Amino acid sequence: MSAQNPVFIPGPTNIPEAIRKACDIPTMDHRSAAFGPIFEAAKAGVKKVLGTTSGEVVLFPATGTGGWEAAVTNTLSPGDRVLAARHGMFSQKWIDLCQRHGLDVQVIEAPWGEGVPLEAFAAALAADTDHAIKAVLVTHNETATGVTSDVSAVRAEMDAVGHPALLMVDGVSSIGSMDFRMDDWGVDLAVAGSQKGFMLPAGLAIVGISPKALAAMDAGGLPRCFFDFRDMLGGIYPYTPPVGLICGLAASVEMLLGEGLTAVYARHHRIAEGVRRAVDAWGLSPCAVSPALYSDTVTAIVMPEGVDGNALVRHAADAYGVAFGAGLGAVAGKVFRIGHLGSMTDVMALAGIATAEMALADMGVPVALGSGVAAAQEYYRNTRSVPDAAAA
Ligand SMILES: *Cc1c(COP(=O)(O)O)cnc(C)c1O
Repeated sequence: MSAQNPVFIPGPTNIPEAIRKACDIPTMDHRSAAFGPIFEAAKAGVKKVLGTTSGEVVLFPATGTGGWEAAVTNTLSPGDRVLAARHGMFSQKWIDLCQRHGLDVQVIEAPWGEGVPLEAFAAALAADTDHAIKAVLVTHNETATGVTSDVSAVRAEMDAVGHPALLMVDGVSSIGSMDFRMDDWGVDLAVAGSQKGFMLPAGLAIVGISPKALAAMDAGGLPRCFFDFRDMLGGIYPYTPPVGLICGLAASVEMLLGEGLTAVYARHHRIAEGVRRAVDAWGLSPCAVSPALYSDTVTAIVMPEGVDGNALVRHAADAYGVAFGAGLGAVAGKVFRIGHLGSMTDVMALAGIATAEMALADMGVPVALGSGVAAAQEYYRNTRSVPDAAAA
């Protein structure tokens, strides 16, 4: 792996120089007057990125998985029923976490490559007239398959039958790179991690909590200590915070908000569309079964029969020093993934597309060198986002 090359894995993502520098600070006393404003700025910026004014934000020294655990253990009680779909590795792991906490998970199986099965969710919610379901889990962006689900549609179904369950959303690979609207979509718990859209090293679980989730916390909960929201909501940490990462987070949200969230999301859509055009030019297809599900942060590409996607990922690392995402779980070997979230430009994406193209050719896939790059170039030059210097 060459440190000069960007990574094309869907997390951890490339770290911009300004954020790397912001993380690199001498020891700071987290109880000093200097840390408070940085901590508050980081949380205020995260609220904007989450799209919440009414919710709270907590930052645990953990990863996205810790964010799932915090969301679940603070608001659900032993044996509570939760509704979840299994349609990829991350939705599967969240289900597993709930089961290990003794929750009664009503699992709806959906093909990997599909989104959240809205009709099955609607039927399950409508059938639950005594409101045994206490939480509905949605993986906004299933990173294993490159599928984005419609969170607002799930909220609409819950509202249509007046279902009072909490809506918990895993936004680990969407938040910060794709549109996310915690308040508008009625999301009660939003989970993110530092090493994806926030462009930081791994080490922070970021959780948005709605007022309704706070009320559920007061009414119940599972055994918890390290992840107890109540200890975190006092404004100071109950233990030693990762000060460097929080300084980095303050820089990250400043960068995202400085670019403008609409512009950030448009950038990722445009980059992703170029990647998809390249995939099409190679004669390959995304794992996501329909365009409405295509993720703007990661593209999982179905391998031709007889070619192992994980071997391709190993080869790209060995031969070119570039990291792509391997296939996970049920799609291991069947797909490889190009991550294009976080710090990414069209020029970086072109390098990733060119490298993927070489690796595919090396593996015997009949792609014409330059075909995917040309398709992406054509799209990028026709949708340029940098103002034309000559026209100015
Ligand atoms: C990466 C990821 C996770 C897990 O996050 P960790 O930070 O590795 O614990 C969970 N959900 C999704 C959708 C992810 O992409």
